[in-house]
Amino acid sequence: MSKSTANYRPETRLVHSGTLRSQYGETSEALFLTQGYVYDSAEQCEARFKGEDPGFIYSRYSNPTIAMFERRMIELEGAEAARSAATGMAAVTTAILAPLKAGDHLVASRALFGSCLYVVQDLLPRYGIETTLVDGANLDEWQRAVRPNTKTFFLESPTNPTLDVLDIPAIAEIAHKAGARLVVDNVFATPIWQSPLALGADVVVYSATKHIDGQGRCLGGIILSSEAFIAEHIHNFMRQTGPSISPFNAWVLLKGLETLGVRVRAQTETAARVADVLASHPKISRLVFPGRADHPQAALVKKQMRGGSTLVGFEVKGGKPAAFRVLNALKLSKISNNLGDAKSLVTHPATTTHQRLKPEDRAALGISEGFIRFSAGLEHADDLIEDLTAALEKA
Ligand SMILES: *Cc1c(COP(=O)(O)O)cnc(C)c1O
Repeated sequence: MSKSTANYRPETRLVHSGTLRSQYGETSEALFLTQGYVYDSAEQCEARFKGEDPGFIYSRYSNPTIAMFERRMIELEGAEAARSAATGMAAVTTAILAPLKAGDHLVASRALFGSCLYVVQDLLPRYGIETTLVDGANLDEWQRAVRPNTKTFFLESPTNPTLDVLDIPAIAEIAHKAGARLVVDNVFATPIWQSPLALGADVVVYSATKHIDGQGRCLGGIILSSEAFIAEHIHNFMRQTGPSISPFNAWVLLKGLETLGVRVRAQTETAARVADVLASHPKISRLVFPGRADHPQAALVKKQMRGGSTLVGFEVKGGKPAAFRVLNALKLSKISNNLGDAKSLVTHPATTTHQRLKPEDRAALGISEGFIRFSAGLEHADDLIEDLTAALEKA
């Protein structure tokens, strides 16, 4: 077992936590691309299955490379336990579905990633789990949504794509008074800028596909929580239903963690510079960046986040035609629905990630026809700003 790195700062944990060295003493973490494991004896095999001999049984259950990724995330996040999954959606679906049964009730903030909204709105009700969507920024709505059978609150903060910030400690308090747990999807904040467990959340989930890989290569997800929550609700569900991550992808993500801190800091600095330039641009009617004093929840950002965001939201005057002209004129930033990549990416949420929503629901979320989400990459900020300002001339 690796030594705990809990006494080190996050930057150090990102590089060292969870490393298991084989008998060869390799510097870089080994990739154990194996389905199964062999035993010294039938007795050892029996003991392993009884849980009396620690060790690996089958890679749907666990694997040394996957264990390293989980341990590094546990120590970074300050969690007790974790289980990784094949994708962010496998992690989200497991975290909210596995502990619930027919007759239970879940409350979620309406501003959710599209597939998360599908799970809450369409999938859970098919299995007899009632769900209520609320305006996440309105604490009264969370309170009023509580029923005797409410078991889970679920939210994202900052939200996609309008980067609203929800009050995690206050919402956790409402959840706990109701005897419910709070699950937070922390993708937009990243583990660098926000620690939901320390703010009162019970479970945190990530799409590791985004900043944790950070170089656009593979998908992955992870659920982090207490030992008790993972043991009672997640462990068996994942072992038996099999949304397991590939050891190869876990290895890529593990190595991605080594540079997560420097990447997220650099990308946030670039996003802040882009936001400052766009804020006063005549072709732009609205700008949202959680690191600026004019963010609608600037005080809350200060209270619960250690930094802004690698994302910037802005609304081009002239609606969809103007927004499309800007996207098509960009030479450096790429049109994509992804985020958190080393390459800067731009998205038009109204026609892509949030296309499925009714126009009135999009409007309620602040996703106008001219709204663009910019995900800062690792390019030089001046090159990105020159590209964006040249493209805005075409709006
Ligand atoms: C991308 C994303 C997901 C889903 O992750 P996948 O790895 O694509 O399955 C869930 N929540 C948020 C906020 C995301 O950005």
